[in-house]
Amino acid sequence: VIQICLPLNALGFVYREAKDALVNAEKLFQLLREKPEIHDPPGMPALQVTHGEVAFENINFAYEPERPILHNVSFRIPPGGRVAIVGGSGSGKSTLARLLLRFYDVGSGSVKVDGQDVRAVSAKSLREAIGVVPQETLLFNDTIAYNIGYGREGATMEQIIAASKAAHIHDLIDSLPQKYETPVGERGVKLSGGEKQRIALARAILKNPPLLIFDEATSALDTASEQAIQQELDTLAENRTTLVIAHRLSTVVDATEIIVLDRGRVVERGTHARLLQQAGMYARLWQLQQRAEDSEKMEKEMLA
Ligand code: ADP
Ligand code: MG
Repeated sequence: VIQICLPLNALGFVYREAKDALVNAEKLFQLLREKPEIHDPPGMPALQVTHGEVAFENINFAYEPERPILHNVSFRIPPGGRVAIVGGSGSGKSTLARLLLRFYDVGSGSVKVDGQDVRAVSAKSLREAIGVVPQETLLFNDTIAYNIGYGREGATMEQIIAASKAAHIHDLIDSLPQKYETPVGERGVKLSGGEKQRIALARAILKNPPLLIFDEATSALDTASEQAIQQELDTLAENRTTLVIAHRLSTVVDATEIIVLDRGRVVERGTHARLLQQAGMYARLWQLQQRAEDSEKMEKEMLA
């Protein structure tokens, strides 16, 4: 009887609470998925980044033995170069990033940074050398300053502000009543996808790492904010070895090499121009995307 008497908006409230809980469970699950399975044994030497060359050599990998994910994948990112991975969802792109960060160990083959197998150095030193701008930025339930400063141990407030300026997020932060001390995350101020992306970018700028991973770093954004952030990502990537997992192919046009993955296999590779010439999978993906972008533009013009 009491339940029947509940006003409708109270039910709405319960519904929203339940929905939030679900979203949180999903995030938690994601975190668990990304949780390092590798523990540093004591006495592992630290990674020495000399030139910043990354090499994936004959990688075979499976999360579960009965389901292989990567098949004999090899590629090299030259020092300061940029290699782009493209391919359908589930083809194994993010898995390559996880292997470089050594969240998992390869089944066979090796991942090397400047000739050092990632299994032969401490995971801590490896991860300190790599900046990641992910698809979806998870913020800690803490202040904005903490969320940016997390990129570098012992960062000063001046350094945090400089990084925020470079990521074009300083003005927004400065306009908040508590500025850098504003709480974010579940119980704090809600930031848009683009703003969270800029926090991630500020974090990476502050970290100043020799190696970078962009994993569909702008996929949560509309075309306009995507272009704005893309420019800043490009600036950050200048002269740094970068692994780009691309959502929009327009961001891979000037990559040193483009690797096309299909169900865990490299099916095509080369520069943008060469892959277009080949008229294979990449060329088809490119045409599809050009068409989608054209109709998006047309739609906008009609609405304007
Ligand atoms: P992409 O980034 O190309 O979309 P992923 O590398 O994330 O693909 O995933 C490749 C395959 O591995 C997918 O089929 C995915 O479901 C599976 N996978 C990803 N993470 C795990 C995991 N932790 N355990 C089991 N399977 C996983
Ligand atoms: Mg992915």
